[in-house]
Amino acid sequence: MKTNLNSTGISRRDFVKNSATLAALAAAGLGPLRAAEQPSARKMIGIQVGSVSFVDEGVGKVLDILQERAAADTIFLTTFTYGRGLAGRQITGYPFPDHGAQESDAGSFHGGNYAIPHPEFYRNTVLKQTRAPDHGDLDIVAAVLPEAKKRGLRLSCSVEDVFRSDVPGVKEVAEVDLEGRKGGSLCPFHPDVRAFWTGLVTDLSKSYDIDGILFFNEHNGPLLNALGASHAQSIASSRVTCFCEHHQRAARAQGIDFDRARQGYRQLDQFVRAALEGERPSDGYFVEFWRLLVEWPEIIAWDRLFDQGKHEVLAEVRAAVKAVGKDQQVGFHIEHVNSFNPIFRATRSYQDLATRADFLKVVVYNNCGGERYASFIRNIGSTVFRDVPREELLRFNNHLLNYGDEAKLDQLAAAGLSPDYIARETQRALTGVQGKCKILPGIDIGIPTGKSSRQASPDDTYAATLAALKAGAHGVILSRKYSEMRLANLAAAGRAVREATKG
Ligand SMILES: [Zn+2]
Repeated sequence: MKTNLNSTGISRRDFVKNSATLAALAAAGLGPLRAAEQPSARKMIGIQVGSVSFVDEGVGKVLDILQERAAADTIFLTTFTYGRGLAGRQITGYPFPDHGAQESDAGSFHGGNYAIPHPEFYRNTVLKQTRAPDHGDLDIVAAVLPEAKKRGLRLSCSVEDVFRSDVPGVKEVAEVDLEGRKGGSLCPFHPDVRAFWTGLVTDLSKSYDIDGILFFNEHNGPLLNALGASHAQSIASSRVTCFCEHHQRAARAQGIDFDRARQGYRQLDQFVRAALEGERPSDGYFVEFWRLLVEWPEIIAWDRLFDQGKHEVLAEVRAAVKAVGKDQQVGFHIEHVNSFNPIFRATRSYQDLATRADFLKVVVYNNCGGERYASFIRNIGSTVFRDVPREELLRFNNHLLNYGDEAKLDQLAAAGLSPDYIARETQRALTGVQGKCKILPGIDIGIPTGKSSRQASPDDTYAATLAALKAGAHGVILSRKYSEMRLANLAAAGRAVREATKG
């Protein structure tokens, strides 16, 4: 049983059981919970689903389950990705949930566009052949949309920037790393990449009577990649991107010196490699790192340039959807690293993001959050903060991030992060956007974790969902995909939704 306490000394169990706890937290000065007392408009209860679930279980049956158990009113249908985080059955090595096919599709999964691409929208890009072959001739949007509408459900298409290298055209538009090698991701400054994203979302918005687009891009800039400053990364400082001709052109337009940027990243690469070997600079790891940033400001400038490219794509995606003129809602997925990493946080202003989106899906996956946060602390504790004992680094970072009393490092994976973390991150986002866009926290339901890491009980899912809604969120998005969620956890989310939205 969990024993970690949140900042007011209230155990997770009590937090779950006692709704009066919420008032106590508000009295303790945690602003988010005061919002719960305000009358709120109808909450949007979204859930992410991949095509394979509808194929395996039947469109009507799945929609009935999502509506009845999870109290969902919006389907975020994975329509474009080559990744298995949002598409496909349960990933290899993890137990199947209690519904759907009980057999891995790892061998047959391909990915791509699960709708039917209309060629006229892809004239200005080399990425013309992205149709997913996984389900034969099936057009998943055309198959699910009428059934959803019949039930009063909204349907938005999820589009994710995850490709595979064998897609025709990808090699031509891929990023180039520090040593001139082609990377695996698409360069956000390549004109064909820009044309692909705007073409794709225009195609979906025009060709189908959908309610909106949710766009995912979890790629990080070169500084974070060099440091492995995300939970999901291995540290590969010589493979940072992007140094292609289109990036160079964008840099020139801003007066950023390409050669010095590349030299700076070579210096950073040497620093990281030495740090990983435990070769302590005479002034210490942090001072040496900071000195690099001072002497090579192009390191920051180049990282910023990546973010600029990524954000320009978001702006163009939104403009393209709005140009169709159907009043469709456009949202962006704000990745988990935004929770953990203060360096990343500094590059993401909610106030700015609010000007680009109708809603933000803010990832607050608390169950897998424990092992992910621990992984981030170990990564950053291997380089920049190698002089700091890791437990102290965790506590220090908790303060920087305004986390409450979360578990210690060696217990984080088994404990997960608390509902209090969800409330705090939800409130931070709400305060940041100042009412200019909606905040829909992404709730972790069954995201695979290691064998000794926390496996969320239905009560955990209930507490997580309730924490987001009581903190004043405009709704939630149950994540990552229905094909990894257990029905009891889905029902627990639904119970929280009904409780939080009644009367
Ligand atoms: Zn590039």
